[in-house]
Amino acid sequence: MPHFICTACGTQYADSAQAPTQCKICEEERQYVPPRGQTWTTLEALQHSHSNTFRDYEPGILGVGSVSSFAIGQRALLLRTDKGNILWDCIATLDRATIALIEGLGGIDLIAISHPHFYTTMVEWARAFTARIHLHAADRDWIMRPDPAVELWDGETKELWDGVTLIRCGGHFEGGTVLHWAGGAGGRGVVCAGDILTVATDRKWLSFMRSYPNFIPLSARTVENIGKAMAPFKFDTLYGHYFDRVIAHGAKAVLEKSVARYIAAVNGTRGYE
Ligand SMILES: [Zn+2]
Ligand SMILES: [Zn+2]
Repeated sequence: MPHFICTACGTQYADSAQAPTQCKICEEERQYVPPRGQTWTTLEALQHSHSNTFRDYEPGILGVGSVSSFAIGQRALLLRTDKGNILWDCIATLDRATIALIEGLGGIDLIAISHPHFYTTMVEWARAFTARIHLHAADRDWIMRPDPAVELWDGETKELWDGVTLIRCGGHFEGGTVLHWAGGAGGRGVVCAGDILTVATDRKWLSFMRSYPNFIPLSARTVENIGKAMAPFKFDTLYGHYFDRVIAHGAKAVLEKSVARYIAAVNGTRGYE
């Protein structure tokens, strides 16, 4: 039976003879059902309609995204660390060319994903590369295709390997996670943020939202907690969830000033009243 994929968010569902009547992810306020209504595709159909493109950001970090853009349009990152390769976040489109190219770079040892909007076809990726998937347990109810490859982690941080740490920030989703790689950016440290810490259009600031399509903000306290979760970690570069949303240098200071600006804005202080 096919595993249907929602065309609005890219989530792949457990096998079913008929397409699901609704997408649970899109029906919720952090996503949306497009005005044209709910439509579905399959990975086989996507392999004919889309392909993937790659961007070499820095030694050890490769972006992977779909052309043309599909669903939310995020790109994933392949991190090639000393201990092994990590797929950070996920995209729905996976084809033979992508598998061959990534195999040539050493494959994927493990997959870690920031939040449910980017779970997409994670099970297909896990099977293609014999990889484990690490998701925060707080978001377990949003796993639409359960699989033995999925490993849930609990608590505030999880060290995947020495110098590679998953950090639970919460915010956009309760289990909202970012990845810190101390060895990235030539040893100055990298954060892969998904849209848990969202790179703003000017690439000089970050922001934080419960719902991006529906413009629902987070509370000052929630964003203060994001700042506290990130405080112990050093980093220079921050990768957002789109190809061109990257803060190349000084990202730690950008995060600190962005948390302060956000809290001032929602509290109506410092000229934001
Ligand atoms: Zn959906
Ligand atoms: Zn999201």
